[in-house]
Amino acid sequence: MSATTTETERLTLARLPSGTEVTTRLHTISGPTEGPTAYVHAAVHGREINGVEVIRRVHHKLADREFAGEVRLVPVANPLTFDLQRYTLPTALDHTHLWTANMERTWPGDRDGSLHERMAARLWEHVHDADAVVDLHTGSPATHPHSVYTDDDPASRELARVFGTDLVMPSAVAPRTPDWPTDRDVSGTLRAIASHEGIPSMIAELGEAYRVEENTVAMGVTGVLNVLKQVGVLDGEPVENGEALLVTSPMHSNRSDSFDAAASGLFVTDPDVWPGKRVSAGQSLGTVYHPTTFEPVHEVETSQDGILYHLRRRGTVTGGERLAAVAVEKE
Ligand SMILES: [Zn+2]
Repeated sequence: MSATTTETERLTLARLPSGTEVTTRLHTISGPTEGPTAYVHAAVHGREINGVEVIRRVHHKLADREFAGEVRLVPVANPLTFDLQRYTLPTALDHTHLWTANMERTWPGDRDGSLHERMAARLWEHVHDADAVVDLHTGSPATHPHSVYTDDDPASRELARVFGTDLVMPSAVAPRTPDWPTDRDVSGTLRAIASHEGIPSMIAELGEAYRVEENTVAMGVTGVLNVLKQVGVLDGEPVENGEALLVTSPMHSNRSDSFDAAASGLFVTDPDVWPGKRVSAGQSLGTVYHPTTFEPVHEVETSQDGILYHLRRRGTVTGGERLAAVAVEKE
């Protein structure tokens, strides 16, 4: 019989004005031998539910398997936005600062802070001494699944690479500035803070919100098990899980590999392009038309070879909005 033990703990993350306690569950699976500790959670953004199902399956796979060390699983890191099926909290519950309605900007939390900051601080107690962190999110129908690591952190890059998906991209950690977070800043993400604390960490952006997608969930399960192999919790080598191409990050770049609408109108995408498709420099992606005069106001063309990482799905666009982004392979 396996000497692996599983424990479930009910964590009180915070208290609402009415006195209602916000609770969630932490599952700790311990192997019979000493080893590293991995922390995995999902649904910091409650409408992003693929990761919740990933964790349920990972739990079942680990429960009767012998391994070294400890795996901490929190399937629903943010029960409030999960119930509301939202990305952020309504301002009535958390608008202490501009950014705190988004729990993913509040790490490592603050026990005396806003609702989200208190919730993050409670979870951080189970993160701070971990050897690896996986934060499961989802993107949107416009975005190809990808893994994100903190730029200039090779251990985190390795974690993201073994997790897999097709695209593995860096994201910069900018220090908090007086203007923060008015520019599109990602300090305060769990990935950035854990990385800063020397804990290899990554985000997986798996598919789209509101849905449980079988292919994406299966990719997430393989990815988490790959990370557990990489850090030495599980025996064996990580297996192939998507193309895992190391690419530049188009997400926060102003370079020519991302395209914002030059003018407002209706964006009609070309029929032969979609997120995840390889594109070459000079390829047409679509056209923004003036909807009443029919005049083309922006013909969108790639400038570099790469993988179409983002392609806007909503047709109605306002000038300045992101239309597309191409991830360019490194080296
Ligand atoms: Zn998210």
